[in-house]
Amino acid sequence: MERGRFAPTPSGLLHMGSLVAALASFLDARRHGGEWLVRIEDVDTIRARRVYESEILRELERHGLFWDGSVVRQSERTEFYIQALAQLEVEHLLYPCFCSRQNLKSRGCKENAQGELIYPGFCRPEASVLAFGRPASNNAACRFLIRNDDYEFVDLLAGAQSGHVLQEAGDLVLRRADGCFTYHLAVVVDDFLQGVTRVVRGSDILPLTGRHILLQRALGYPTPVYAHIPLVLEKSGEKLSKSTSARALAETSPLENLTQALARLGVKINIRDFSRPDEVLTYALGQYALT
Ligand code: GLU
Repeated sequence: MERGRFAPTPSGLLHMGSLVAALASFLDARRHGGEWLVRIEDVDTIRARRVYESEILRELERHGLFWDGSVVRQSERTEFYIQALAQLEVEHLLYPCFCSRQNLKSRGCKENAQGELIYPGFCRPEASVLAFGRPASNNAACRFLIRNDDYEFVDLLAGAQSGHVLQEAGDLVLRRADGCFTYHLAVVVDDFLQGVTRVVRGSDILPLTGRHILLQRALGYPTPVYAHIPLVLEKSGEKLSKSTSARALAETSPLENLTQALARLGVKINIRDFSRPDEVLTYALGQYALT
């Protein structure tokens, strides 16, 4: 059974960009006769807000995007992230890192294209230390020791991708010093445990996917099919402003929003031919195909 998912971070309302991603993932899963899940990515408890979560779910329903099963929240899945870390620890693939951002900056670390500091491995243990294992410490960040950092995959929309994670980012933080598990760990563990086979999401995450593939490899998980949808930009070419666009989405009728979102996916519809969102979605199912 194929399974897709929409995994919003509840740090703001649903906007046109996220509606396009949700719609593409929904249509792709349904077209494959598969299930479509919604997972709330509130693993970063500092950014996530409950009020946004319910608003996002309400907006999905208003647009006829009904999910299968119950909504899962990352904040309630800590035990699974701990288990995955324990598995990596047994393999000696974790180490504590005491470097703060400030510290990395003052030591001259460069930023990558996403504005993240590339970690050169200051706290990386020597091979001899690793042989004995080095448990993650409580007040340090926990990093994934990347042995083979090259990855290759074919994105259904963006085509062949390859790279080296140590050059792009360095060893990944899987648990921050404040105890928060990171998106990279949570998304990999959840997609696996939820049996997700098709990941359709915004292209802002395309540069991070190689990291997910390395983590899947280390944990013995299969890699799902990936498709990254081009981002919705402002007319000026700027990244969409979450607040303006979200307000607009909530104020406009679902039929109009779906028409616009489908146009972004290359499906033209005449809004006058439809009176309900589910009619639009049924029609769109016959028109939209990633593969
Ligand atoms: N939580 C991410 C977001 O809201 C999406 C992550 C994903 O789909 O893997 O942008």
